[in-house]
Amino acid sequence: MTTSVLVLGAGFGGLELSSRLSRALGDQVDVTLVDRADAFVFGFSKLDLVFGRRTPEAVRLPYRDLMTPHVRFRQETVTEIDPEQRRVVTDGGVHKADVLVIALGADYDVAATPGLAEAGHEFYSVAGAERLRDVLPSFRAGTAIVGVCGTSFKCPPAPSETAILLDELLRTRGVRDDVHVQVVIPFGTPVPPSPATSDAILGRFAERGIEFVRGRRVAALDPTTREAVLDDGSRLPFDLFLGVPVHRAPAVVEASGLTQDGWIPVDRHSLATRFPGVYAVGDVTSVGTPRAGVFSEGAARVVADQLVARIRGEAEPPGYDGTGACWIELGDQQVARVDVDFFSTPGHPTGTFTAPSARTAAEKEEFATSRRARWFGVPRG
Ligand SMILES: Cc1cc2nc3c(=O)[nH]c(=O)nc-3n(C[C@H](O)[C@H](O)[C@H](O)COP(=O)(O)OP(=O)(O)OC[C@H]3O[C@@H](n4cnc5c(N)ncnc54)[C@H](O)[C@@H]3O)c2cc1C
Repeated sequence: MTTSVLVLGAGFGGLELSSRLSRALGDQVDVTLVDRADAFVFGFSKLDLVFGRRTPEAVRLPYRDLMTPHVRFRQETVTEIDPEQRRVVTDGGVHKADVLVIALGADYDVAATPGLAEAGHEFYSVAGAERLRDVLPSFRAGTAIVGVCGTSFKCPPAPSETAILLDELLRTRGVRDDVHVQVVIPFGTPVPPSPATSDAILGRFAERGIEFVRGRRVAALDPTTREAVLDDGSRLPFDLFLGVPVHRAPAVVEASGLTQDGWIPVDRHSLATRFPGVYAVGDVTSVGTPRAGVFSEGAARVVADQLVARIRGEAEPPGYDGTGACWIELGDQQVARVDVDFFSTPGHPTGTFTAPSARTAAEKEEFATSRRARWFGVPRG
């Protein structure tokens, strides 16, 4: 008997889940993968776009190149999800399945930060990253703020990396002395689970004259005075604002009744929602790990392995362990790594720092290369 699996969202979670299922089960499984986009872009490629290191064409991985047999890709927008019936409506039709997996990620709510659209530049979307890339060449003097507007955002080290890469760009252009760079983050340190990682980033900030404004969130921008208004009412003047927008679950997920406090609650080991046969992985959940591709992918692997075991009648594999590795750009082509563990000590995530080396830089490259090969058949080398 064939099990039908409907996967909503072809990001890190959806791609890993569908490719793992189809490789393990062949025609015992019938996977439909739905995404409104026509191509996948790694989150970290947005920094490559902002700083002109790669072109938009070079970072796009078109879904028409998907390498996964037994997976039917549909470029459709999900407009309605009925978790009780495992029935989904899209602009292309109606889908029903034995198993439904929600992997729709997090959307950006730019309007939640008054003034951001008029006076700032969000750089977390591909379009926003391209717009910021286009204004950077004319920015020569003044204050640049990399500011986080919400409390939960993708890839917590990314704003710090952005400030370091901005510093590097301005140095290359010979205008660094005329620019004050500030980073505003709602945490006390750049990477709270790992003091050693935070120290490495703060060390870079100190060396490079980047000011760290800790424990604050940007609540609004005042387009008239060109000031960032922080969540304690204080104001910071800026000439260029690089913003991490407020994140929220896609509206279609909010309307489905699956969310609680904005995100989908799941069993942290099985990733099951409260609806039988319905799972959720990645940024759209409140599972307790950061919103990052490595965690979405790790959760997707667990759901895939559980389904494979169930279909084959094998013993239940281990549940999700909430661990993952993130690579962090520290400038001068140096890449460090932090291995984080969010579940072993409940409420106290821990992280282990690995200093930059040729090996850690190669690992980051290999992370992307292996996914390009596994999901899209892009040849290595
Ligand atoms: C600047 C930046 C740097 C980053 N760096 C890293 C890093 O170094 N390492 C790391 O692990 N992570 C990094 N991330 C985070 C990472 O990109 C995300 O956490 C990851 O993509 C989440 O995976 P996901 O599968 O949960 O969701 P996504 O990858 O966001 O996938 C969700 C998919 O759902 C689709 N979708 C949404 N709504 C609909 C709808 N209504 N109908 C149809 N399709 C829909 C979207 O088109 C999307 O393809 C970074 C992110 C940014 C912005």
